[in-house]
Amino acid sequence: MRVHNLLSMVLTKDSFTWRVLESVYSVKYLTDYWQHYRPKAATTREIYLEFVSYCNLRCQLCSLDHLKPKVRMSIETLDRIFNQIFNDRRFRKVQIIHLHNAGEVLLHPEFKDMVSCIAVHKEKFKKAGYRFPELALLTNASVLKPELSDFIIHSGVFNYIRFSMDGGTPENFEKIRTRAKWNDFYYNVRYFLCRKKELKSKIHAGFISMVEAGKKLNTSWMHKEFIELYKLADSYELRHPHNWGGEVDLKDGRDLNKKYKIGCSMLMKQLVFLPNGDVTMCCSDLNSKGVIGNILEKGLFEIYSSYKRLNAIEHLFKNQKDQIDLCKNCPTY
Ligand code: SF4
Ligand code: SF4
Repeated sequence: MRVHNLLSMVLTKDSFTWRVLESVYSVKYLTDYWQHYRPKAATTREIYLEFVSYCNLRCQLCSLDHLKPKVRMSIETLDRIFNQIFNDRRFRKVQIIHLHNAGEVLLHPEFKDMVSCIAVHKEKFKKAGYRFPELALLTNASVLKPELSDFIIHSGVFNYIRFSMDGGTPENFEKIRTRAKWNDFYYNVRYFLCRKKELKSKIHAGFISMVEAGKKLNTSWMHKEFIELYKLADSYELRHPHNWGGEVDLKDGRDLNKKYKIGCSMLMKQLVFLPNGDVTMCCSDLNSKGVIGNILEKGLFEIYSSYKRLNAIEHLFKNQKDQIDLCKNCPTY
């Protein structure tokens, strides 16, 4: 478990210690800020690929606008993204590619072909002697039937799979994750985890679990089937709700104007590709507020260097988050 995740489970977000840690974390931003202006260097370490813009669930605390157009990423767009990363050495330090942002990735009707396209690029990187970023999948598992689990395990391209399992009990799960059915989730995920074990697959499997604000971030009060799944997995992360960059009102009175903290490393580290080729600045942006260009029209470094992104970086450096539409209501975790 990452240290940050562990600390977020044991410290409250308004505690003195947490504030000190957030303040210390500014050093990371300042290092990246300095690096950003070095020629020929990109600070991007995480890329998000949104395969589809829509989802079959209606989770209570999700900011995804379900009325926006339903768009799927084409194989040609995916191909262009990987070619841009491959051809531009400034992006060789990308460490991880996440197959999610908004939307449910497994709803893409050509999911298997998309994965095959990624496998081809992985091979191309390998042949050229370049390190291929790790690949991570996050899913609500609603359509993860056994045949699809087998495909993912056998594909050989994934390093991580994580399941969203909120609530701590089946009743809470179905309440928070509206339209999801606990029994379907339990059997789909249990199959995956048991099959992974049987096949000795190296995919790291984990859970991200959001629990209601009043509940403890531990498993002592949880339903036995939750605990059973946690035990079958390699890791799990328990969280209280966050506000999706200010898109969801949690009414928790959280301090948004953190004068003791400089910057946000998500802005420095992330680029998010949407199904129509648009690129946004951060994975909290589920509804395209922070779009800085389109990969079908511009090169990757041109988008990375866009005025809108540089402007956001400068404002966060000067602790002027309120000047950026995307960030002004975000607690930056
Ligand atoms: S949180 Fe995830 S699974 Fe739930 S509605 Fe939003 S995108 Fe769908
Ligand atoms: S401040 Fe919030 S919205 Fe802005 S880049 Fe950071 S995480 Fe994203």
